[in-house]
Amino acid sequence: MSLAEIKSRISDAEAKAGRAPGSVELIAVSKIQPNERVEAVLNEGHRVFGENRVQEAAGKWPDFRTQFDRIQLHIIGPLQTNKARQAMELADCIHSVDRPKLATTLARLAQELGSCPDLFIQVNTGAEDQKAGILPQDADAFIAECRGLDLPIKGVMCIPPVEEEAALHFALLAKIAKRNDLTGLSMGMSSDFEKAIAFGATHVRVGSAIFGARDYS
Ligand SMILES: *Cc1c(COP(=O)(O)O)cnc(C)c1O
Repeated sequence: MSLAEIKSRISDAEAKAGRAPGSVELIAVSKIQPNERVEAVLNEGHRVFGENRVQEAAGKWPDFRTQFDRIQLHIIGPLQTNKARQAMELADCIHSVDRPKLATTLARLAQELGSCPDLFIQVNTGAEDQKAGILPQDADAFIAECRGLDLPIKGVMCIPPVEEEAALHFALLAKIAKRNDLTGLSMGMSSDFEKAIAFGATHVRVGSAIFGARDYS
């Protein structure tokens, strides 16, 4: 598929859900992709990208930023506290704030740096052991804690379990956002971004549908 196709599918999904045109931000997830593919998408004019590893992001985005203006980088993967500073210096937005220790580290660094990227709280909606994210029943207290630390929390994020109906998880995440007065909903990937938009996604994270399959070999 192409960037243009994904964008038109997003527009259609917005219209179908009665959402305002342009209300959904497309984050092109460029992890593992060869630089030529990423550059092609930059050359098509897209500027909003996602990476799930700080190390990998640091290896390519400072260079791309010297060649292309207005790039917005989103860190969407699990974040270790010892990578938090680097992530804050690199990214415009971090989607994976998922535990008190990380929140206090981000708050301390925000003081030190004098700025902080926009933040999303990752919720482990499927309560999966192997997955990052605060448990749904702990989300309200954690969001309050982050706000108490003056962190700029913009929304919540989830990655539904692969073998379950994503709609249930999107609905749960939307409910958590609503009752906490959060407008940002980071949900939906290549296989289900249209469904996520129907449930109110404001940020969809689409990788392979834009760039092709990732080659991990
Ligand atoms: C890789 C990744 C995506 C994109 O996945 P695709 O299926 O390639 O669209 C989205 N969100 C997160 C957190 C990811 O790590």
